[in-house]
Amino acid sequence: MIDINKNFTQLSEDYLFRNIALKVAKFREENPNKKIIKMGIGDVSLPITKNIVKSFHKAIDDMSKKETFKGYGNEQGYDFLRENIKKYYQNRNVILDIDEIFISDGAKSDLGNILDIFDNNINVTISNPVYPAYVDANIINGNKINFINGDISNNFLPTLDDKCKESLVYICSPNNPTGAVYDKDSLKNIVDFANRNNCIIIFDSAYEIFIEDQNLPHSIFEIDGAKNCAIEICSFSKSAGFTGVRCGYTIIPKEVKLNKISLNKLWFRRQSTKFNGVSYITQVGANEFFSEASQKEIVNIVKYYKRNSKLIFDTLTKLNILCYGGVNSPYVWLKTPNKESSWEYFDLLLEGLGIVGTPGVGFGKNGEGYFRLTGFSSYEDTILAMNKFEEFYKK
Ligand code: PLP
Repeated sequence: MIDINKNFTQLSEDYLFRNIALKVAKFREENPNKKIIKMGIGDVSLPITKNIVKSFHKAIDDMSKKETFKGYGNEQGYDFLRENIKKYYQNRNVILDIDEIFISDGAKSDLGNILDIFDNNINVTISNPVYPAYVDANIINGNKINFINGDISNNFLPTLDDKCKESLVYICSPNNPTGAVYDKDSLKNIVDFANRNNCIIIFDSAYEIFIEDQNLPHSIFEIDGAKNCAIEICSFSKSAGFTGVRCGYTIIPKEVKLNKISLNKLWFRRQSTKFNGVSYITQVGANEFFSEASQKEIVNIVKYYKRNSKLIFDTLTKLNILCYGGVNSPYVWLKTPNKESSWEYFDLLLEGLGIVGTPGVGFGKNGEGYFRLTGFSSYEDTILAMNKFEEFYKK
């Protein structure tokens, strides 16, 4: 007998970005001469830096010569890249073995694929609001999801309670969409809870490069005890502009075990079976990210996006609109000023100001009444959008 995975029927319609696109298309048709400012996308907008592009070219040349041609590589990734990731963590006093680092084709794949090493129908804890991919991946596996609420009372940084015992816990810090970042003490509480209560943490650090506060942790492995209970998933998408290139990495310390079985070993086995590695060209490019010259270029790109998010945050705050994020994150999460629903506010901004953002409810029920703007647009468009906000709310 053959049948589909019936869990797919449990997925709710993925209408968020499709609905946004439909509304924007309709507005454009009705207002062909009006400028639309896009501040909703979570994609980067600046091109890949010169040094990384040069390294792509060099890697392509390698492929063209018999002596340097590369065929299949290690499923876990080339050692040259894993060594540099190891050093990147060492700079934060996190000591890793390169066998604990697995190169991936981006964070999204591994955030879902990691479920292969766990049983189906397990308990999962997911914060709300959050990046929606965790929820759908777990529904597909038939897992039981317990949401932990982020709201004003906890600054969108939910904590674990008794209902989270013996579960797989997804934590996203800096958070998409709220921009909230766990400090070391609150992460320590989560790690201690996980170790006491047989939980495994999946820590999504896709936005770690945006953290500027020296006291905030970039990696969960900066926290004592995390190596016994956490897996970290990171990405070159937002740091090196690789959203279209596709590269990330997953770290599974050898100490993390479930029922005495090493998750590192299981993931190694899973990857060797279902994954054939990331292209040599991509990994050479990702490796160049760590060079001194590239780090200087990357700092400037991150500064560019953060100047935008800070401008959004400061302007909204001046207008007495409650908002979060914007400092250690490219995202600004605002409370709709007059109790509009997320979609009402979307319509108001699009029709009134020509600005496109993302309705908060698209990130979970706790996002209702909130709205996400991003620093990923151009500086010029961000200034224009903020001038429109000022004009509109000062009336
Ligand atoms: N994690 C979070 C929190 C994200 O917001 C995104 C993308 O927007 C991803 C992961 C996906 O990253 P990648 O491009 O590496 O798949």
